[in-house]
Amino acid sequence: MMERDFLFLINCRKARELCSKKLDGTITHKERFLLRFHLLLCSLCRNTLCQFQAIQKGIRTLFEPYESESSDIKLPEEAKVQIKRQLIE
Ligand SMILES: [Zn+2]
Repeated sequence: MMERDFLFLINCRKARELCSKKLDGTITHKERFLLRFHLLLCSLCRNTLCQFQAIQKGIRTLFEPYESESSDIKLPEEAKVQIKRQLIE
């Protein structure tokens, strides 16, 4: 039963999902393993998810201090998306 679990491969969509869980810090040990395993086999995810992670991290460190200080100066979600898009292109 255990072996079956570990042989289970996740798809790219799931990998992306796990990646955001990882960023949120809600990922389990098993999920982390599955994500790593997927990244080993899938170069596409390795490239895109790593970029995605770096950008997410960058945006968080940029805006989190402001957001936690005062809820009045929250950056709209749309603005974040715009910035993210510009960083990717
Ligand atoms: Zn993939």
